[in-house]
Amino acid sequence: MVFITNQKAVLYMGSDEKCTLCDGKIDHPYLAMKEWDIDGHLCGKCYSKKLSEFYPGEHERVNLSE
Ligand SMILES: [Zn+2]
Repeated sequence: MVFITNQKAVLYMGSDEKCTLCDGKIDHPYLAMKEWDIDGHLCGKCYSKKLSEFYPGEHERVNLSE
C-alpha cells in the first residue's frame, strides 16, 4: 500500500508543476541547463525554444512543429 501511495504522490507532483517561463502546465518537465540561469522546470515548448536560442544550428534535427 505504501508503494502505491508513493507512486500517486510522484504522479501528482509531476502534473502539478508549472513552467518557469510561460507558467503553463507541464506534461513532461524539462530541466533547464545551468547556463540558462533559469531556476525550475520548463515545458517542452519553452525548452525547445531555449535550446534554439542558445545553440542555434545545433539542434536542427529536433522536430519543431512551429
Ligand atoms: Zn513553457
